[in-house]
Amino acid sequence: MGKDYSRKSERELAELRSLVLDRIAAVPAFRRGSLQVGYRKCGRATCRCARPGEQGHGPRGLWTRTVKGEGSRGQYVPVDQIDQVRAELDHYAEFAALVEDYVEINEALCRARVGPPGPRSRRVAPSGTDGKKGGSATPKS
Ligand SMILES: [Zn+2]
Repeated sequence: MGKDYSRKSERELAELRSLVLDRIAAVPAFRRGSLQVGYRKCGRATCRCARPGEQGHGPRGLWTRTVKGEGSRGQYVPVDQIDQVRAELDHYAEFAALVEDYVEINEALCRARVGPPGPRSRRVAPSGTDGKKGGSATPKS
């Protein structure tokens, strides 16, 4: 997927940068993690789910995500919200891809500002007699 920004001009990159930022801002609310949707047998022998051929209770969604330092966390998702949660997970993928793109563009922009690599005549500042400013600030009392 890697796009090549190295041939773009500084101006083009600057435009792309604000364009991608707009797209990032437009991503709807999102969440990380994953969603499993399944059916479950409750285990009661008298329940209809215990009959052969029954698929179990559900469908029911379980959204899980890994929290730093806390391991995996899960939350049940009501069936009528499964589509919404799926969309939120997709929005995160969209967001992450845009951010990656945004980083690439910024780095290309920084490189473009420095200019193409190549031999550069480097002038050494004349050392000398001119009044030296700055340096260590010595507090005067
Ligand atoms: Zn059951």
